[in-house]
Amino acid sequence: MEKVKCAVLGATGIAGQQFIEAIKGHPWFEITGLYASEKSAGKKYCEACIWHQESEIESRLSLMVVKDVAKIEQDIKSYNIIFSALPGEIARDPEEKCAKYRPVISTTSAFRYDKDVPILIPEVNISHISLIEKQKERGWRGFIVPGPNCTTLGLVISLKPISEEFGIKNVFMTSLQAISGAGYPGVPSLDILDNIIPFIAKEEEKVQKETLKILGTLEGKNVQDALFGISCTCTRTNVRNGHTEIVFVETEKPCTPEDYKNAIKKFNEKFKKEFGDLPSAPKESIVIKEEENRPQPRRDRDLNDGMSTIIGRIRKDDIFKNGIKFVLLSHNTKKGAAKGGVLVAEYLIKKGIIKR
Ligand code: NAP
Repeated sequence: MEKVKCAVLGATGIAGQQFIEAIKGHPWFEITGLYASEKSAGKKYCEACIWHQESEIESRLSLMVVKDVAKIEQDIKSYNIIFSALPGEIARDPEEKCAKYRPVISTTSAFRYDKDVPILIPEVNISHISLIEKQKERGWRGFIVPGPNCTTLGLVISLKPISEEFGIKNVFMTSLQAISGAGYPGVPSLDILDNIIPFIAKEEEKVQKETLKILGTLEGKNVQDALFGISCTCTRTNVRNGHTEIVFVETEKPCTPEDYKNAIKKFNEKFKKEFGDLPSAPKESIVIKEEENRPQPRRDRDLNDGMSTIIGRIRKDDIFKNGIKFVLLSHNTKKGAAKGGVLVAEYLIKKGIIKR
């Protein structure tokens, strides 16, 4: 069967490179267009980008000429799907131009907070998919589906089994985020080597807002934000890939570590049943680590090719009447960005929402 033609916007960046990795050898998708800034336009891809992945660039793409994203309008109809990994501040205009005609799966924040836009994570809030229909009122023939901020991703996946079975009153989260989360060149080496930076601009606000939207309920044609309290502290640490998050949850009903583990098992079974047949789906959405010194970014981030959230150190918290605490690890550029976006696109194809 003919493959679905895809363009990658922001193809030279960290998340853009991960789209290239996620689509390499994909059974349904092929990349037929690469876009970046005016500075990269006209160059071969291998000359325009500093490649940061472990494997070599696919040779066909290595020689492909990068185009200027400002001029995407003229090519848009030659693609079936647009994957966008542009900086949030500049993504709105090109993504909108694309969505007039084609589905856009985005890693950026540009449209995340619009009321008719779902921040979609298949195993967490698939019912929000119906917001896509609402976007037709903008006069678009396509639509935009962004993924969450890479720090939000692991957090909402870890919270979903708790919110479903025990209810959530309050969440406190402290992150230790990888350097690659800041893109390239990102944080200067003299700032991050031997160091932790206790501030990432706008990150805490994004994670708090997105978590409540994603775990919100669809009422009629709108998402009502979840009502629990959430307080985050986000820090950058000297790790290449993989965000670690330390999470405390006050639950409505009692939830012991065993209860949480059982809820995760059920969550994984549901994931396998509904999404397990998609090419990019991991065996398990959540992997539980029982060792007391795991998860660790270097050792665990690539488990299931970076598509699982790894949870360990699950303990009762005695400060709250009903409290539980744990440490999670989530791959920020894979499930937290590009490959997570590819999984969403696969689901939309399976459901016929994106036509092959
Ligand atoms: P990055 O490494 O800085 O890459 C940025 C990309 O956008 C490059 O391809 C760059 O092209 C292009 N670009 C920059 N300024 C542009 C402009 N003015 N006009 C057109 N293109 C421009 O950033 P990143 O980390 O990949 O992040 C990309 C997006 O993904 C962001 O919205 C980010 O929030 C999101 N995201 C990133 C991660 C992560 O872990 N890195 C995770 C989740 C979401 P040139 O090479 O030509 O400059």
